[in-house]
Amino acid sequence: MHFTGQVWRPPFEAHNALLQVTSGCAHHKCRFCSLYHGTAFRVSPMSEVEEDLQELSRTHPNARRVFLTGANPMALSQDKLAAIARKIKAYLPGVESIGGFARIADLKSKTVEDLRELHALGFDGVHFGTETGDDETLAYMNKGNTAAEIIEQLHKLDEAGIRYNIVFMNGLAGEGNSERHALNSARIFNQVNPDSVNIVALTIFPESELCVDMLAGLYQPAGELEKLIELKTFIENLTIATRINANTVSNTAPFVADLPKDKQAVLSALRQTIDRIDESELAAYRQSIRSL
Ligand code: SF4
Repeated sequence: MHFTGQVWRPPFEAHNALLQVTSGCAHHKCRFCSLYHGTAFRVSPMSEVEEDLQELSRTHPNARRVFLTGANPMALSQDKLAAIARKIKAYLPGVESIGGFARIADLKSKTVEDLRELHALGFDGVHFGTETGDDETLAYMNKGNTAAEIIEQLHKLDEAGIRYNIVFMNGLAGEGNSERHALNSARIFNQVNPDSVNIVALTIFPESELCVDMLAGLYQPAGELEKLIELKTFIENLTIATRINANTVSNTAPFVADLPKDKQAVLSALRQTIDRIDESELAAYRQSIRSL
C-alpha cells in the first residue's frame, strides 16, 4: 500500500479499509494543527490508487467501507472522486460506503447535484473538522471558512443525502473566551444535522503555530476547569439529536452519549467532575499527551 507520512482516521473507522488518494492537507494553515507535519499535499495518481485497490482486493476482499486517507480527499475534483468510487466498486464489490476527512471549503466547488452523484456512488459518513462555530476563533485559527459557511455547505450534504460528523474543539478560543465559544458553537451546530459531534479538547503540540503564539504570550490557553465548564455550556445549549463522542486521549472526562436522551446524565456527570477537579493533575495529564 502507498501510505505517505502520518495516516489519521477517527477511532471508529479503525476496522475499515484505508485507501490513500491524497496525502497531507491542501490547506495546512490551521494555527492549532500539528497533523501531517512535514508531509506536502499530494494527489495520488490513479495508477497508485489502482495498485492499492488490487492489494485491498486480496487483503480485504469483503470490505464494506473504504476510508480515503489524507486531510481532505474531498478537495479532489468531482470527476476524480467519481472515478475513484467506480474503481473501488470494481475491485471491492461489497463496499457499501466511502468516507474520509473533508474541509468545509472543499464543498464550495461542488453543487448539490455533484454531491448527489457522489452519494449514489457510495460517499457517506464524511468527517469535518469544524472545530468551532465562533467566527472570531475561526478567523484567528485560519480555518478558512466562516460559521455561516458551515451551515450553508453542510446543508448541501443534507440535500444530497450524505451523512456527516463534525468536531467541537473544546478550549480552542483560549482563556476567558469559553462561554462565547460554547454558545456560538452550539448555535451554529444546532442548525446542521451531524450523525455525531466529536469532542476533542485542545492540546497544543510544539509543531503548531499556536504553540509559537503561546510562547510569545499572544495566546493564553484555557485551563482544564475552564475547558470542562465550556463543554458543559456547549452540551447544555446543544438541542439537536446526535451522538456525542468525547472519548479520545484529549478528553479528561471521557463519555459517549446520545442527545437528547442522555443529556441530563452527561450534565450531571460533568457538574460532579467540575466540583472535584484537580487543575494541576489534569494540566500534567495534558502535558503528557504526545499525540492525538
Ligand atoms: S486542522 Fe485539518 S484542515 Fe486544518 S491544517 Fe490541520 S489537517 Fe488541515
